[in-house]
Amino acid sequence: MLDCLKTFVFPKLTDMYGNSIPKITELKVLANMVMRGIKIIHRIPVKGSPLEYIQLPVGKGGLGVACPNITALTTFLVSTLKKLWSEDPYIRRLYREYLTVVVQYELGKRKEDVTIHDSASYLSNELPSKKDAFGYNCYARVKEVCRGLSQNQDSPLHKLKFTVVNHNLALLVQATESSSQKVYTELDIKRLQKNLKNQFITAQLHRFLVEKPVKSQVVKVIQQHPQSNSFVRTGGKVSLACHNFVHRARLNMLSCNYNTFDKTQSKSCRRCGYMNESQTHILQSCTYGMANFITARHDAVLHKVKSMVEKGGKKDWSLTIDEELPGYTRLRPDIYMQSPDKKSVLIADVSIPYENGIEAIQESWNKKMLKYEEGFKHLKDQGIQLTALPIIIGLLGTWWTPTTNSLMELGISKAATRKITPELCSTVLEHSKNIYWKHIFGDSYKPVPIRYGFETPEGNQWKKERKPLPEPLNA
Ligand SMILES: [Zn+2]
Repeated sequence: MLDCLKTFVFPKLTDMYGNSIPKITELKVLANMVMRGIKIIHRIPVKGSPLEYIQLPVGKGGLGVACPNITALTTFLVSTLKKLWSEDPYIRRLYREYLTVVVQYELGKRKEDVTIHDSASYLSNELPSKKDAFGYNCYARVKEVCRGLSQNQDSPLHKLKFTVVNHNLALLVQATESSSQKVYTELDIKRLQKNLKNQFITAQLHRFLVEKPVKSQVVKVIQQHPQSNSFVRTGGKVSLACHNFVHRARLNMLSCNYNTFDKTQSKSCRRCGYMNESQTHILQSCTYGMANFITARHDAVLHKVKSMVEKGGKKDWSLTIDEELPGYTRLRPDIYMQSPDKKSVLIADVSIPYENGIEAIQESWNKKMLKYEEGFKHLKDQGIQLTALPIIIGLLGTWWTPTTNSLMELGISKAATRKITPELCSTVLEHSKNIYWKHIFGDSYKPVPIRYGFETPEGNQWKKERKPLPEPLNA
């Protein structure tokens, strides 16, 4: 459905917008209908959910469906500028003279007094004009475009107006109050549509991240690894059940007691009684989930990484999984590896945090790292090189970029790491989805097999098992 819209409907519309001027009100209705439809398809609540999430490109963490209204207005603006800036002297003269006449009538000036500055101010709605003096024309539409894109209260851009450069009309654009002004002249015509689109994205992203911090915190984490969102475009290795779950979850809009606005209703956890039943609580720390699927999610990732380490470039290292180690420490790192010459030690820890901002994830890892450095200080004192590696995957399926390096440090090849990345993300996402539904439905929930990704093996025996070391070749 989404593909159909993106492949056939929107390009056709964009094509038509170039020369047509549908009523602004009708365009708005169309835009609302499209946005509503996209939300429904993705199981996002229609009310209270941010449009930015729908309209931002997939690479920025959104769904990549541009607003048809903004597209229509921009396309018309660009197509009119193409004529005013045309290389064909006939077209150029025709449109410029037409503009002069319109300005003459609507500003009430004599024809020879109309300057290029008048035209720029007129198109930017900066001068009072007699709207009916000439009648509706393509420049009246350009004025509407300027108003709609930058001068109305809900306009997407901070500034969009005409200015004069080298005695020629130019377009001045400023995405947000804090961003720099860009001036586009006739030399930029080929890339104008694209440039304007980027300005919209800049403005939209800024608004989303700054004004809607709660709803955009997961998107911020996605942005440090945009491929974590590519399943939106391709479907990817993500089950339909997860598609139906993930967008609502990423917007912090899953139904749970904490997310309710009803003041008479308790916000505490229906399973363990903790005071806030938030998404974070359900998916990360509820004791009910811990006993059920939260540990399984962690172990599914750990088990897969273990099996890859056993096949990787460091398979001759000693490997211990989730055990307290002899020495002065009571820490139990998920993975503890020692090189055959006993001079290096690798410690890796699997962590599946909620994507509550980049800083929070980084900070929790730093804390863990400090704990390991202190706990294994005796190794350093013996001159052993100690490296602590994070294996962090956000619980809504977001890859934490340093994890790639960690896997390679553990001896897993670059190609294998790249291949496993989306599969591990899906593993985490599928488990999180099951954790949520189990929390909501309790005993009446029937566990759904993991469609994409990996399941946890039975029991804990797998942690002790070790594939036999390869025989040395010269034995
Ligand atoms: Zn709970």
